[in-house]
Amino acid sequence: MRSSDGGGPCGACKFLRRKCIRGCVFAPYFDSEQGMAHFAAVHKVFGASNASKLLLTIPPNKRLETVVTLCYEALSRVRDPVYGCVAHIFSLQQQAVRLQAELAYVQARISTLQHHLPIPSQAEASSSVCTTMDPSLHLCHHVCVLDQQLDNSM
Ligand SMILES: [Zn+2]
Repeated sequence: MRSSDGGGPCGACKFLRRKCIRGCVFAPYFDSEQGMAHFAAVHKVFGASNASKLLLTIPPNKRLETVVTLCYEALSRVRDPVYGCVAHIFSLQQQAVRLQAELAYVQARISTLQHHLPIPSQAEASSSVCTTMDPSLHLCHHVCVLDQQLDNSM
């Protein structure tokens, strides 16, 4: 993000086809290229005047974060008019629920198995081949192997 000190209008003023005045509230955050596309989304969703009023109520040291989140929300809303960025929040919440359930399952299995089998030594553990990049699958795989060992030993 660059200010329009170079002389040209900032991305917001360029989009609005107006003169970029000295001290323009948008200038530090919307450059004349990518900033213009971002501002187009902000204007479409929130309106330039509302965005300007909002920024003026925010202390200058918090405005960058404000602009980043405004752009994120606006771009998400343009992409998904129904859910906007809430679609992403829902998806992350469901992912967190799934991972918590998986973690609880794995912890329960580990705790059960620890009562039946000795903990493998570091050398044995590191000699097993990791075939997947997903650490949660990796952990499940080890639990399944331990399950089989337990079944065989009983
Ligand atoms: Zn401007």
